[in-house]
Amino acid sequence: MGGDMPLLPARMINEFAYCPRLAYFEWVDGEFADNAETTEGRFHHRRVDQTPARKPRQVESEDKGEDTIHQRSVWLSSERLGVTAKIDLVEGEGNRVVPVDYKRGKRPHTAQGAWEPERVQLCVQGLLLQEQGYACDRGVLYFVGSRERVDVLFDEELVARTLELVQGMRAMTTATIAPPPLVDSPKCPRCSLVGLCLPDEVGWLKAPHGGEEPALRKLVPTNDDALPLYVQTPGAKLAKDGECLKVKDHDEVIGEARLVETSQVVLYGTVQVSTQVVQELCKRGIPLVYCSSGGWFYGMTTGLLHKHIDLRRRQYATAADQERCLGLARRFVQAKIANSRTLLRRNHRAAPDMVIQDLKRDQVQAGVADSLQSLLGIEGTAARRYFSEFSGMLKEAEPGARFDFDGRNRRPPRDPVNAMLSLLYSMLAREWTVVLQSVGLDPYLGFYHQPRYGRPALAFDMMEEFRPLIADSAVLTAINNGEIRPSDWIERMGSVALTTDGRRRLIETYERRMGQEITHPVFGYQISYRRVLEVQARLLGRYLLGEIPELPPFTTR
Ligand code: SF4
Repeated sequence: MGGDMPLLPARMINEFAYCPRLAYFEWVDGEFADNAETTEGRFHHRRVDQTPARKPRQVESEDKGEDTIHQRSVWLSSERLGVTAKIDLVEGEGNRVVPVDYKRGKRPHTAQGAWEPERVQLCVQGLLLQEQGYACDRGVLYFVGSRERVDVLFDEELVARTLELVQGMRAMTTATIAPPPLVDSPKCPRCSLVGLCLPDEVGWLKAPHGGEEPALRKLVPTNDDALPLYVQTPGAKLAKDGECLKVKDHDEVIGEARLVETSQVVLYGTVQVSTQVVQELCKRGIPLVYCSSGGWFYGMTTGLLHKHIDLRRRQYATAADQERCLGLARRFVQAKIANSRTLLRRNHRAAPDMVIQDLKRDQVQAGVADSLQSLLGIEGTAARRYFSEFSGMLKEAEPGARFDFDGRNRRPPRDPVNAMLSLLYSMLAREWTVVLQSVGLDPYLGFYHQPRYGRPALAFDMMEEFRPLIADSAVLTAINNGEIRPSDWIERMGSVALTTDGRRRLIETYERRMGQEITHPVFGYQISYRRVLEVQARLLGRYLLGEIPELPPFTTR
């Protein structure tokens, strides 16, 4: 067997038997995500995982005078079979041995005592022991939840099925696209990669459905358990303390967050970080993001690059294809104009009909623009129309005190509304950079925005339709609810900046917006904006890999 092909772990043959797409994601794409079941499974294996032995060790048995084998954590491989396995426990006497595999949960009540994936995984272990010269014709599955042992006979049928699955998995590893998702399968809700696989969503977008309303299962979690940790106190120190991150100002702890509940760490200005924190964040795949004290996004530290090289290759190929770039760019701009128009319609005191109609026309024109250049022109015109009416969505901050806004200005922003918009756009660009990188895409190569040194062009592309929905909307909330007041601003040489306390409140407003649940316009289920960003990034990946014909825009009504 073999050539350069790596040996397939028995655990992967189990995954392949469960769902070929799952095995592809884990083995070929290097994806892994924990859910309650995988976490619990790892916990139960801790007892049996020790430094692996290369062979079962024999111990002299006092009563029988025969060699008894009781060896935990035995690691065996076979070039001929092309597989490898770490066996939890090998028991036996003399030359006759039995592999024992520990499983979380209770024994399932099936005709064969256990599900096929577990029996097949055990059979791989048996075949490896046979190759070492042992007599091994059965194994044991030990179910921790019910403390039951289930005997599995390695009969002809099971051995043939196991070898067939090994061959199938080997053939699949050379494919450049993942197998299709299972259809309406009860396996999916229990699958740890359901949020990445999007089985029902991909199935829905692939099939022509002629205007019919989707009735998809709600498999993607509505919101995230983990949230960003922002540190913005000048001179603060970030350190690791057990399973927590602690923020200290001099020796006083001013904030802390559990690592498992942290999605990213964002540092504003001069914050010190210990090496232990950087290493732990890299290990856990939690990005460490650096911004200037004014919120300008400098960059980030992450662990190793995502392994999904084929996805990036498809992204680069698409970026080099002008037609496909234009198709995607039209879609980004159309969706942005549509969402800007909706925001005006919903929040303006009296949105002029003319502007609403003009925006509708801009949206239509964007859909037929014949070059990126003309698309830029249409987008610029639509942005001017929209921002010319933006102040009509602002209420008085305090009696008699209104925030002035007279169109967009930046670098530096000259009024508080522009400064808030710039800060939140920068936060949104950072958010998209983190999301795109985490799903394996290169945030620096876009389709609409052209590459420029240090500019996350793809993040800028993907954030277009979310600018009005997240950033603009958060600015309106902050002002109209009195969360940010004129007294939160300092004026310096013609530009304005938020006080530390004002920025903290604006970040809170932004994070609230990110956590807000909405009805997904395509899939019809409830989902937070934070989750939407991840789903949208994964759909872009599915589009680039050719699984779905189009990237659906995210537009609200
Ligand atoms: S969600 Fe379903 S189709 Fe997707 S990998 Fe998991 S089991 Fe397979």
